[in-house]
Order: sequence, then C-alpha cells, then structure tokens
Amino acid sequence: MKFATKAIHAGQEPDPTTGAVMTPIYQTSTYWQKSPGDNKGYEYSRGTNPTRKALEDCLAALENARFGLAFSSGMGATDAVMKLLKPGDEVITGDDLYGGSYRIFTKIFANYGIKFHFISFNDPENIRNYVNENTKLIWVETPTNPMMQIVDIEAVSKIAKDVKATLVVDNTFASPYLQNPIDLGANIVMHSVTKYIGGHSDVVMGALVMNDEELYKRLWFIYNACGATPGPQDSFLVLRGIKTLHLRMKAHCENGRKIAEYLKNHPKIDKVYWPGFEDSPGYAVAKKQMRDFGGMISITLKDASLEDTFKVASSFKVFSLAESLGGVESLVNHPPTMTHGSIPKEVREKVGVTDNLLRLSVGVEDIDDLLEDLEQALA
Ligand SMILES: *Cc1c(COP(=O)(O)O)cnc(C)c1O
Repeated sequence: MKFATKAIHAGQEPDPTTGAVMTPIYQTSTYWQKSPGDNKGYEYSRGTNPTRKALEDCLAALENARFGLAFSSGMGATDAVMKLLKPGDEVITGDDLYGGSYRIFTKIFANYGIKFHFISFNDPENIRNYVNENTKLIWVETPTNPMMQIVDIEAVSKIAKDVKATLVVDNTFASPYLQNPIDLGANIVMHSVTKYIGGHSDVVMGALVMNDEELYKRLWFIYNACGATPGPQDSFLVLRGIKTLHLRMKAHCENGRKIAEYLKNHPKIDKVYWPGFEDSPGYAVAKKQMRDFGGMISITLKDASLEDTFKVASSFKVFSLAESLGGVESLVNHPPTMTHGSIPKEVREKVGVTDNLLRLSVGVEDIDDLLEDLEQALA
C-alpha cells in the first residue's frame, strides 16, 4: 500500500463489535476476563488499549516498520529508549538537538551513570573517534532543531552496525511522509507525535517504531512497567490527524519553499536555514533521503539585538509566537529563550543558536497572507 492509503486505513479495520468505520474511543481502563488470564487480548489500558493499538499499527505502517508504541509525549518515548541502557553505557549524539532531548540526557540520565558525547555528524566518520566498548546507542536528529542540519542516516547506520550500537533517529521534523529512517538502516524511529503527525496542535504525544521483535518486547516492557502511555481520546485525535498527513505535508512543503525563497532575498535577513537550497550544506543528503524539504525554516536577522529580535517576534499577525511546530497554523519561535532555553548560552551559540535567531513553522494557510505577514513584521 502507498502512503496516502496507509495514512487513512492502516491499523483501522471496521470495529468488530459494531462495524463502526472510525475506530471507537475505547474509554476503559480494564477488560472483562472469562476466567483469570482468559481474556480477549486486553487486560489493563496502561499496557494495551484498542484505540491506541490501532494508532500504533498505523504509525508502524507509515514508517514501513513492524511495531509501533505510542507514549504520552515525545519525551516519554525518549525516556523509554534511554531505559534500555545501564550505568556505564555511552551514547553518541548530535551537538544540535531539541532542547528537551539535551535536558533529559544531561540533567536526568547523566545522573544514572550514562555518558553522552555531543558531536558533529557533518562527517559521519567522526563518530568513530568517540566509540569504545561502552558505546551502546547513537541518537540522531535530522533535520536538526533549530539549525536544520542534515545527517546522513544511511552512512550513520553503517557505522552503527559496524560498532554494534543501536541507532535511534528522531524523525519529528521530517515526519514519516518525508523520511523513513528504518528503510535507511535505523533500529528505532522516535517521533514527537505532538508535531506534524498530530498536526493540529491539540495533542501532546510521542511514539517509537521498530522492526526488531526482541527490541519491541523490551520497549513494550518499559512502556508498561513505567507507564508513560497515552489515553484513548488522544489516540483517536491523532488517528484523525494522520488521515490528512500527506495532504498537510505537501502544503507545508509548498508554502515552506516559497517563504524560504522570499526570505533569502530579503534585506533584513542575514541567513536562511532550510535544506532545500541547492547551496545549503545538507542539500545533497536531504535530496537523497527525504521526499521534499519540509516547512521548518530558521532565520537570523541582520544586525539585530535581542530587543530587535523580540520586536520582530512580537509583530506577527498570522504567525503565532509560540513553542512547538508542525500544526496547520504557522508559528514563530525564538529558540534561545523558548524551545532551547535549557541549553547553556555557550553551548547553543557554538552551533548557531544566537540571540537574533527565529524559527518558523510554516503552516498551510494561504501563502499570500503568510508572505504579507512576514513583510510587515520585518518592516
Ligand atoms: C517537540 C520535540 C520533542 C519532544 O516531544 P514532546 O511531544 O514535546 O514531548 C523531541 N524532539 C523534537 C525534534 C521535537 O521537536
């Protein structure tokens, strides 16, 4: 089945009891058992729920994977992955990461004896400089948040196999419509479902998908034992959101391209970070591993102080100044003080997260209104 058909049908058979075409919201915590242990495959909703199961099967299908697990947030999903590790284990990850990922690694799991290396993946061979017998996991985000760097997933996956490390790819920025890391050799794909997959900025949720059954069983054990699993209402809302994922992504990409090109020639803009420019450092790899370039764009304002940048950020009328991304509505965010505020200044500035940086999540409104809003805000 092709993507659009899977988005609408995968995991979603008509309900066996009533024939309901839309998956019902199974608002139940527990399930009747005929005799102890003799049940219909469902015992308690922390571990399994039919609405959530339909969503998990759909998510797995969209990533061309066998298994999916939904979590109550993207961070809940990340937390579960890290619990595969033991004290003494080491993780190699990027130096340009979502702020919350950096925070959970350095402020939570570092305290449990796990060591993290934050490195540049521009040349994947750089990974080998940090590998030793304790290396267990490689965590990649691509495109990166917020600098829009591109990591070559296939090249990293070859090194991960070579050194016997589990490769996890945070695929939030691309969405399964634009990029499928499992096909490129990743072991686990992580999503903040809150973003493009949910698509309407009304649900916080995360997900993991994987092919390996052993890995699925270990992660399901953590998911059930630790309990960061989402409820049936949110699962239903995300199933509904996914039905238009392909349509939304096409519109995000189309508007994103027009806005990136408009900003590139704007006198008030210093740099535009968007992987679709032919002269962008990630272009060749993005073209190879992504279906299109997405609707996320970061910009730096020319000769702008923090106050100037705040002034522009607060002047939008159609774009909303808010954290998050990937919804149908356009958002503008100031990473240094908002999404990436938990990263120390010297660390973030090294990769380019300077005070004059703004990140745009281009929505699917009419392009003329978005361009007009940018024009007046920059003025
Ligand atoms: C938002 C985000 C997360 C965290 O997901 P939540 O659903 O907010 O917990 C992780 N990675 C990336 C790239 C994100 O944008």
